[in-house]
Amino acid sequence: MPMLQFNRFIGHTMETRNPVPSTLYQIIPSEVCFSCNVCCRFLEVDSPLAPIFTETERQKAIAQGTDPSLFRPQTDGNSAQIQLKPHNDFYICPFFEPETSHCTIYPIRPLDCQLYPFALMYSEDRSEVVLGVDTLCPFGEEHLETAAFQQHIHDVINYVESEAVIALITENWSLIGDYQDTVKIVHTLAELTDATPATHT
Ligand code: SF4
Ligand code: SF4
Repeated sequence: MPMLQFNRFIGHTMETRNPVPSTLYQIIPSEVCFSCNVCCRFLEVDSPLAPIFTETERQKAIAQGTDPSLFRPQTDGNSAQIQLKPHNDFYICPFFEPETSHCTIYPIRPLDCQLYPFALMYSEDRSEVVLGVDTLCPFGEEHLETAAFQQHIHDVINYVESEAVIALITENWSLIGDYQDTVKIVHTLAELTDATPATHT
């Protein structure tokens, strides 16, 4: 796998953390996502890729009427993963509306979903926490090398490495998924590597 091919970001380190997070914005046009069939659908009912909610995100979803029993507590003791539901011959997030391809909680969707097609995960040997772009996203794969997407990668790194987001992920480290070989790694998150128990087991 062509790891760390984005030379612009190799060796990107933050001497000091950003005190205020920059805004996390979505570079992929809505109409592209509405006509795509990748996100929010899963092959297995217990897919590890099902979205994970922090406690604040979980409470917001419950306040909007979500059944609390749909959330499965995670190993970090703070976050919870949503229970998927069957749809045709696969499974979908219960917040996904397959007829329209809309997320019914879009304004309060969790960070896990806001980040995609970026993925927070462990490196293959689990020695590091890394950020990558999932090439299963057709837009991400097609536009990865464009100047706009490279700038977006830079902005997402800044967002994830901001003080508030590092603290949030440290507290909810189940947000860091297992290594996926479809994800092109663009950055090592040194601070999360130091702070995350799973990199030291
Ligand atoms: S895979 Fe990419 S293009 Fe498709 S819905 Fe998800 S973010 Fe949008
Ligand atoms: S919360 Fe929304 S964006 Fe996230 S998987 Fe569910 S339907 Fe998709």
